[in-house]
Amino acid sequence: MIEAFRKLYGSAEGVRVFRAPGRVNLIGEHTDYNLGFVLPVALELATTIATAPSGDGKLRIYSEERQELREFDITAIPTLAPTHDWTDYPIGVAQQLIAAGVSIAPANLLIRSTVPEGSGLSSSAALEVSSALAFLNGRAFDKLQLVTLCQRAERNFVGVPVGIMDQYISVFGRKHSAVEIDCRSLNHRLVQLPGGITFVAVNTMVKHALSGSAYRDRVRECAEAVELIAKVYPNVKSLRDVTPEQFETVAARLPEVVARRARHVVTENARVNRYTDASQRGDLALMGKLMVESHRSLQYDYEVSCAELDFLVDTALPMAGVLGSRMTGGGFGGCTVTLLRADAAPAFRDAISQAYKQKFDVTPAIYPCDPSDGASEITAGQL
Ligand code: ADP
Ligand code: MG
Repeated sequence: MIEAFRKLYGSAEGVRVFRAPGRVNLIGEHTDYNLGFVLPVALELATTIATAPSGDGKLRIYSEERQELREFDITAIPTLAPTHDWTDYPIGVAQQLIAAGVSIAPANLLIRSTVPEGSGLSSSAALEVSSALAFLNGRAFDKLQLVTLCQRAERNFVGVPVGIMDQYISVFGRKHSAVEIDCRSLNHRLVQLPGGITFVAVNTMVKHALSGSAYRDRVRECAEAVELIAKVYPNVKSLRDVTPEQFETVAARLPEVVARRARHVVTENARVNRYTDASQRGDLALMGKLMVESHRSLQYDYEVSCAELDFLVDTALPMAGVLGSRMTGGGFGGCTVTLLRADAAPAFRDAISQAYKQKFDVTPAIYPCDPSDGASEITAGQL
């Protein structure tokens, strides 16, 4: 990476490298912006940024994936408007850092990522968090503030009403652990995963467009549900506050579609808590069952799945060693995550790949999901 940096910018003097991981969410989908619970793991797949002072008043950002170099006057950054391009992510983060009182120094940046874009493994948060670390360039900064600042960049500048999960896990991920995040209190706890199992992500190769209208529609439908349910239960401020039992008492008063959206969120929240318990007890059968229930709820109630995701789940479930499978991330494409016995993983990869190719004439990318650590600087020895 240092060599690529030198080649691009002519010098690598003073270069430092920062890494932020993508993530796979095991369970708790579309619950984060409803202030509920999620259970992601940080991945080995990550976005890495090399940065060095530019010395000429410019900020340059190069994406190897895009093979595009963009240049900005440092003094213009606070007033830049969104361009609806990939640079909105780092520029949005730079503006948020400036608003938090952090100065952005003229610098050259080189971005390299192994997180597939638009595949539900959160390349966007990996880009935001790695950009933030690159701009901070080793200066100390509160981790939780970093998380909320990156989320604000995506919400306010990129313009997608995302929850907190992706940025949070990219910062707080931990090797060998899943992380249960309470998206209201913004606390988390590490959740032990049973031995002898593994998680595999399979990519439909259908890129979702999270910024598309469906995501906004879901956010709006959830807000509508809260407004109606609060008329009966005034303490309800978000769907997080609604128990499955309470929901049943009000479901009939909600418009049919709104009721199904709310039912997904309410039952999904309950599933996250049951799943973490099952994981800590090593109850593999229950973990698998809850993942399938989550998928069906996303498929029929929340309606964010698609034919390719459903095919991958339905095809995986009868395979040897598979305990559970579901879509992961926002939906409308992207990846499934499958829980299976570790010794069954090689045969599973071959079989699911072949089945998908036969059905859709596309070879799915497959990623191991071993939990990695959250964002940090990479020292020379690790490069
Ligand atoms: P996801 O987060 O699931 O991958 P998003 O739609 O939220 O999907 O974010 C994908 C967007 O993030 C891309 O369209 C691009 O604008 C930006 N992005 C992510 N990684 C890179 C990269 N390495 N280089 C340039 N842009 C990137
Ligand atoms: Mg994203």
